[in-house]
Amino acid sequence: MAGQLHEQEYILERNHLQKLFDVLSRSGHRIIGPTVHDGAIVYDDLNSVDNLPAGWTDVQEGGTYRLKRRDDEALFGYNVGPYSWKNFLFPPRTRLWQADRNAGTAQITDEPPEAQKMAFIGVRSCELHAIAVQDRVFIQPKFVNISYQSRREKAFIVAVNCGQAGGTCFCVSMNTGPKATKGYDLALTEIIENGRHYFVVEAGSEAGKTVIEQVPNTPAGAAQRSAAEAVVATAAGQMGRQMDTTGIKDLLYRNYRNPRWEEVASRCLTCANCTMVCPTCFCSTVEDVTNLKGDHAERWQRWDSCFTMDLSYIHGGSVRSSAKARYRQWMTHKLATWIDQFGTSGCVGCGRCITWCPVAIDLTEEVRAIRESEELPTESKEGHHGDT
Ligand code: SF4
Ligand code: SF4
Repeated sequence: MAGQLHEQEYILERNHLQKLFDVLSRSGHRIIGPTVHDGAIVYDDLNSVDNLPAGWTDVQEGGTYRLKRRDDEALFGYNVGPYSWKNFLFPPRTRLWQADRNAGTAQITDEPPEAQKMAFIGVRSCELHAIAVQDRVFIQPKFVNISYQSRREKAFIVAVNCGQAGGTCFCVSMNTGPKATKGYDLALTEIIENGRHYFVVEAGSEAGKTVIEQVPNTPAGAAQRSAAEAVVATAAGQMGRQMDTTGIKDLLYRNYRNPRWEEVASRCLTCANCTMVCPTCFCSTVEDVTNLKGDHAERWQRWDSCFTMDLSYIHGGSVRSSAKARYRQWMTHKLATWIDQFGTSGCVGCGRCITWCPVAIDLTEEVRAIRESEELPTESKEGHHGDT
């Protein structure tokens, strides 16, 4: 797992990036990073740097995502797509155990922890924060998710500082970006200027330092460092969204009965897209399956969502049967109760839930609407009839 170490900065030329991949492969890492697939930039296994989305960018708005050609060959000139690193650290489906019946006895075999090391290429600052949020959920001293822990401890993280912000990004509001400050092994800033294409590289751990020193590099000078700072400053100035987080926990606690929940519920399809793409959402359920002969059974854990009725089913019915109750649960958990539970916001400002909501519901807009409604006369806020 990445620590913190900020000493030297290195220059890695674009045409030596493959060498970084080679070093990671030789040390047994499965390399996962961005690639173009099904009209989006998703994270998948990479065989070489040729699989990176060279010359592509993404254009994002509420309910909209499109790929577009850039006028250069930047490898990381996009923002975030529908996948996040939770797809690999906490996969959508994981087998927990298998049971076999033999001669009247049942034998249970636990699923072994993931053995292969993974190297994540192109992790954004907001995503580093999201991984840190999931660490708090899955690697608490009292309750450890062994599967997550084994994947996480073996992950080598190559972060990439953002050089542009997307239309739905708001990491500056959440204090989670756009520059990676901790939680990585290596952090790259991509620079294309005067016909030269290179990366300024920072090592964030001893493991990162060991890796970069096996790759052809030169020390970064003042000019390259300031070029890297300018790249990040550009992204910071382009945020497509912003959220005023002042007193947000108490704001949402005070507004449990705000009529705005009815309004957003009238648009929400309870499709759960927002929770699937969110890099911090962690709800799951378990399912048991058996074969037709009845001598083999398996238990699987799979992602679930607070937008499904089943998630809150308690004997006799669902605790949150209305769309209003489910949307309110999601947003209030994300931005308020998460703080009580884990000491941090559950939102890192990546904007995925806005982009991938089919009806363009935007939590930054919802927070703004609730905040502004507090300025209205009291009686106009009393539109509440039943909570579930
Ligand atoms: S807020 Fe949007 S993405 Fe989330 S459940 Fe509702 S319609 Fe689906
Ligand atoms: S709530 Fe939305 S913006 Fe916040 S981390 Fe989740 S997907 Fe990203």
